[in-house]
Amino acid sequence: MQKAWEAIVAQISSWHVIIDIIDILLVAIIIYFLTKFIISRRAGKLALGVLIFMVFLLLSEVLEMKALHFILAALASVGIVALIIIFQPEIRTILEKFGAVSFIKNFTETKNSKTKNAIISSLCEGVEQLANSYTGALIVIERSVQLADEVKSGTIINADVSPTLMRSIFFNKSPMHDGAIIVRGGRIYAAGCFLPISTQENIVKELGSRHRSAIGMSENSDAVVVVVSEETGTISVAIDGQLKRNYDRMNLEEELNKLLPDSLFNGKLK
Ligand code: ATP
Ligand code: MG
Repeated sequence: MQKAWEAIVAQISSWHVIIDIIDILLVAIIIYFLTKFIISRRAGKLALGVLIFMVFLLLSEVLEMKALHFILAALASVGIVALIIIFQPEIRTILEKFGAVSFIKNFTETKNSKTKNAIISSLCEGVEQLANSYTGALIVIERSVQLADEVKSGTIINADVSPTLMRSIFFNKSPMHDGAIIVRGGRIYAAGCFLPISTQENIVKELGSRHRSAIGMSENSDAVVVVVSEETGTISVAIDGQLKRNYDRMNLEEELNKLLPDSLFNGKLK
């Protein structure tokens, strides 16, 4: 009985040795990766400073240097906040690796979708005003294909979408009223742009060159093109070579919200 007990105690103490080794190894691995991570980053020098500071803090405690320890400990609490701010990009990278940043992504996506709703609503208000005043308009909304040639044929504006600006551009005495505006990244990027005209033969005769160029642009790219007819005030949308007619502000807004992804409205121009 005594022997069996001694054997169990010996076994447990040998486990302790193994657990201690694993413990030390784990700490060594963490320190290794942490130093590698910090040194490879721009904040490496700062990290070295922090390390020296920590050594002094520890020494002041062990050697019971009360005044020095008091000051260093006070500095340390302010320092932690400063470090979080300075290392923010690094902390973000680490969190991203562990997927903890998805909530931040959700937050920015909601922000994009709020921007999207506001821009689409403003654009549709502009379209409604143009339609009510029988002002002809062509509005090309870029999606993934960049319309470099069409932008080149016009004038760069790069302004926020607003009904007032849309009415000033398409007002028939304005020098830029001919042609199309191109909306890129949620902004009116260019105006007075020339679009490719569709060569489809089955387009109804009543549709003139404005509508044909809207169809042409949608055949040549993945853009969404909104047209307002000067003759009838009708609002139409061209996508993939097809023209759908008779929109009003409400269903145009719904259609654009469906067709345009949130990511188009991140405020960054490609
Ligand atoms: P609406 O119903 O408004 O009369 P429509 O389809 O009958 O339109 P037109 O009357 O021929 O077309 O409209 C001519 C206007 O359309 C031009 O003044 C110009 O502003 C625009 N337009 C015509 N062709 C193009 C093009 N290729 N690219 C850009 N804009 C064009
Ligand atoms: Mg016409």
